[in-house]
Amino acid sequence: MKVAQVENEKIVVKNIDDIKLDGRKGAIVRVLGCGLCGSDIVKFRHKLAKNGTVLGHEIVAVIEEINSDTNFRIGEKIVSSHHIPCFECTYCEHENYSMCSHFKATNIFPGGFSEKVYLSEEHLKNVAHKVPEGITDEEISFYEPLGCCIRAIKRCNLYKNDKILTIGLGSIGLLMSEGLKALGYKVYGCDLLEERINTANKNGIESFNSRDLETFDKIIKEKTNGYGVDAVFMTSGADKAIDVALKTVKMGGKILVFSSTPNNFGYANNEIYYKELTVLGSYSPSPKDLQESFDLIVQHKINVKGCTTIYSLDNIQQAFDETISNKIFKAYIKMFE
Ligand SMILES: [Zn+2]
Ligand SMILES: [Zn+2]
Repeated sequence: MKVAQVENEKIVVKNIDDIKLDGRKGAIVRVLGCGLCGSDIVKFRHKLAKNGTVLGHEIVAVIEEINSDTNFRIGEKIVSSHHIPCFECTYCEHENYSMCSHFKATNIFPGGFSEKVYLSEEHLKNVAHKVPEGITDEEISFYEPLGCCIRAIKRCNLYKNDKILTIGLGSIGLLMSEGLKALGYKVYGCDLLEERINTANKNGIESFNSRDLETFDKIIKEKTNGYGVDAVFMTSGADKAIDVALKTVKMGGKILVFSSTPNNFGYANNEIYYKELTVLGSYSPSPKDLQESFDLIVQHKINVKGCTTIYSLDNIQQAFDETISNKIFKAYIKMFE
């Protein structure tokens, strides 16, 4: 079977021996396609993935071989994510599932950018879903990334009718905004790239350029009766995004950190104190968040049209390069023509 492996700062497509169930519980699935996640890009660019690693985890696949107590059957199309919490440790008890050591240790094997993948019985039981008719593979491949957004939104404990600003309108910013819209919040967006702002506006997310912070802040204050937004979602890792957040957030508001920054900045002690801000991070979804994500996509409540660019497995290096250079929003690697 073909896989794409990290090799000396490149992504190289190779042939390796087919994986088999070999009496294990779980399933071997034939991957139809796999989304290229921002976290894959981070692991690749910052050399966090060692040679031989197969990245990718946003898979859509067909069951080829199965030995399971679940109701999944051979030939069914499924979607799955990669990590599963233990539900028992102190992190799980506090609903910080993505901090759980079992969560971090579990994965799909060898990785999503592979023609075949092994899913354990735990994956089948907790994070895999049968894909119904009427949903495209690209649409359902947003299952895991949208799950991350749903968790972030839930973490914020927003109030009905809250007004939200998404900073950064790349694929995850657009998806976060779609999730916020679907859950009933009024969303504004900002970015520095006109093309992204235009796409967001076309998708019904009222968006602006935040390059001139004073002008942008004036717009936000006008939209919010002078208060500022109830919450800011930081999907951009640019240093300046923090200034935008502190300027536009309402007193008592929330800042949700959803991206790493190149440098670790000191936190804004005085703003947090005097404005009674809540700053919180959100990383990866629980099975419950994923279930909600699945339902929203299946009910067609999330518009991801025009976001995805399709590449073949052989052209995966190009998919990485064009994501890094912001040429495209979101790459989807299609395994078979
Ligand atoms: Zn992902
Ligand atoms: Zn746990």
